[in-house]
Amino acid sequence: MRANQGSLQTAAMFLLLVVSRPALAREAERTSLGNVASRVIQEFEHINSLAGAHEYLQSARPGCIPPFVKARLLRTLPITGEAKPTANGRSKLSAIDSVLEYHARKTVFVVKVIVVNQAFMGLHGRSILLISGRALELLTAEELRAVVAHEIGHEYFWEDYQSAARLGDPGKMRELELRCDAVAALTLLILGTDPAALLSGVSKLESYNRLAGATGNVHCYVSMKERTGFVRALVAKVMGNRNDWKD
Ligand SMILES: [Zn+2]
Repeated sequence: MRANQGSLQTAAMFLLLVVSRPALAREAERTSLGNVASRVIQEFEHINSLAGAHEYLQSARPGCIPPFVKARLLRTLPITGEAKPTANGRSKLSAIDSVLEYHARKTVFVVKVIVVNQAFMGLHGRSILLISGRALELLTAEELRAVVAHEIGHEYFWEDYQSAARLGDPGKMRELELRCDAVAALTLLILGTDPAALLSGVSKLESYNRLAGATGNVHCYVSMKERTGFVRALVAKVMGNRNDWKD
């Protein structure tokens, strides 16, 4: 009887350990990720394979902007301020074709290289991809492609972002920026390229802008450390044992 009780206690302790280990692991992940990242990673909890990532990106992608809206936007763009990319810049720009094609945006987006002091990339009106000459110079082709994938992510959460910007809600904007990172990382994984290029790309843009004193919108992003933790955690979920991310 005494022996049986002992066995039962051991079995109960073992069960407790087995049951609580995933919960402990999730808790540890949450505390190491940071507040915003741990909230957003839960939204992508259900994506744990490349097939799941592809299904999410296909089903959640919004329809293209109507051509007449794009034409109207293009007419409102300033006629000055556009730069002619160098041969090297043109070669880097050709690297973004794969992400545009994957997202069915190759014939929708108009790419404009612009002259501004910042290392800037942005999606205007869901159809005009603005890339500053400085950003084109700084980024490698892989990083440029990765940051474009992030900009495509903005289309997925367009209305929410516009509303957060209108309301002046940086907390919501930080959350949405991470969701765009998720779209970018999933896209890059599906295309067989390294999501680390997203982190090195945004880090270069951020460092350049900090040195140039162009830090007006830094409060709209979580720290580079939190972005890195988030992207790594997402990649680990999707790739499982195939994740060979190098430190
Ligand atoms: Zn963004």
